[in-house]
Amino acid sequence: MKIYNTLTDKLEEFIPIEKGKVKMYVCGPTVYNYVHIGNMRPVINFDMVYNYFKYLGYDVLYASNFTDVNPKIITAAKELGITEREVADKFIKAYLSDLENYNCSKIDYRPRVIEHMEDIYNFITKLIEKDMAYEKDGDVYFRVEKIKDYGILSNQDINELKSGIRVEVDEKKESPLDFALWRKTTEGEQFESPWGLGIPGWHTECVVMINSLFGEKIDIHGGGVDLKFPHHENEIAQSIALNNNTLANYWMHNGHINVDGEKMSKSLNNFILAKDFIKLHKANIIKIALFKTHYRLPLNFTDELFNEANIVDKKINDVLKQANLQIQLGNLEVGKIKIDERINEIMDEDFNTPNLLSYLMELVKDLNSALRNKEDITISYDKINLINTILGLKYDLKELTTEDKELYQKWLSYKETKDFSNADKIREELVAKNIL
Ligand SMILES: [Zn+2]
Repeated sequence: MKIYNTLTDKLEEFIPIEKGKVKMYVCGPTVYNYVHIGNMRPVINFDMVYNYFKYLGYDVLYASNFTDVNPKIITAAKELGITEREVADKFIKAYLSDLENYNCSKIDYRPRVIEHMEDIYNFITKLIEKDMAYEKDGDVYFRVEKIKDYGILSNQDINELKSGIRVEVDEKKESPLDFALWRKTTEGEQFESPWGLGIPGWHTECVVMINSLFGEKIDIHGGGVDLKFPHHENEIAQSIALNNNTLANYWMHNGHINVDGEKMSKSLNNFILAKDFIKLHKANIIKIALFKTHYRLPLNFTDELFNEANIVDKKINDVLKQANLQIQLGNLEVGKIKIDERINEIMDEDFNTPNLLSYLMELVKDLNSALRNKEDITISYDKINLINTILGLKYDLKELTTEDKELYQKWLSYKETKDFSNADKIREELVAKNIL
């Protein structure tokens, strides 16, 4: 299994820290408003990554956090006239319902910053003790220039970075590169700390939650490419400072989403909320549209893309429905195939979902032809289901009752005796029952 590691910019063989286990963390939303469809790309992508590791037989421990302590939440609380906790609860609830609607709810751990305040104090204290951080007027900053590998993830040189930064006049920091681990606040929600009232910095929150849940190092750290710098770079810097490691062995970043060739933004009015988008297209169609492009590449949303995805979804649905009927009528044994070498070949190359979708379409063709020619349908049926599970596609296939089966046989015998008026009547019943 090979993963493109954005830390080394190389395709690397996946070797887990603990045999048979995958520890994975993906940065979750800052819960101050509804998430947009761009935020759903990592969600859908890492759900697929999770499913594929499961398919390979790994025990996957998947965490994705809620950033529920953040200056943006303080601002939102003021605007909405409610408390920060109410803002966080409202948008956590909305996000969980998005996950449900997109069929991406498999996350094992959903830590919140508020549950890890004690860990955050301890973490910052240790960095100060190691002289990697310093307190200044109630703020605590990280000494970036003490990390010689700083910029390793985003391929930036520390000197270049330094010359590119505008230095503020009233700067409290020793170096313009230093970032805040703790920030003094004078309004909104504040937490007591050894450095006075304030809130923790976002980059610290994620590292602390990872360390608390998994220990010093995990296998995979994921997120959107926008998070590479400074967020993930700063997570790595803190982990190097405290634990002398890069926090994760494999860093994975998905590309962003454009709409009709333009970047999504509020000002362009092409900013689509996940909760609204799911009303336009069902989850299967959105996933097919996303998986047609490799996760690392930017993705362009067009009407054409969704029309095509719609057709693909319908083809899969139709053939599965027909096959399901024959399987139940004939009491055929399915679910025997657990591994398909072709799937492994395709997915072992850094989760090549565009090729997996092509293979899926081949199998749909095979299954259609097997149905037509009354050949064995169970093999292609099983393989299609394996792929659907990996991609997180869900099809509701009806379980037939004895009565349903009898009705179906009746329809067949009317057809055989060319009693078309009765056959049509029963056909209507079968359609109404979602059998045909
Ligand atoms: Zn994060």
